[in-house]
Amino acid sequence: MTARRVLIADDNLQIRMLVKAALRSLDCEIAEAVDGEQALEAAVTDPPDLLLLDVTMPKLDGFEVLAFLRKRPETASLKVVMLTTAGQKTDLQRGVELGCDDYVVKPFEPRALRETVERVLDS
Ligand SMILES: [Mg+2]
Repeated sequence: MTARRVLIADDNLQIRMLVKAALRSLDCEIAEAVDGEQALEAAVTDPPDLLLLDVTMPKLDGFEVLAFLRKRPETASLKVVMLTTAGQKTDLQRGVELGCDDYVVKPFEPRALRETVERVLDS
């Protein structure tokens, strides 16, 4: 069985490192994107099994990326978990409306993130 592939899109290096550390035991292949444009390009050209998508990023925000992915038949059902910031309830709502599969609120517990990613990957 080939390793499952997760794309982490977050402009914050520290968050990307925390996510990688949290997912280490899942033995996934991990790719990174540092802004919305990179995230979209990577998701379209080489769709991962799951995209962890930050909301606030340069160039394109996470909502724009998600909306674009959902409109294309090839990526319409790509599994997307949004990384939202605590207290931004409207963010959360918008992500759900646009069709994210789940969300994780930052700052996150490594274990909670891992469980969410596992659950969505297995869904
Ligand atoms: Mg950000």
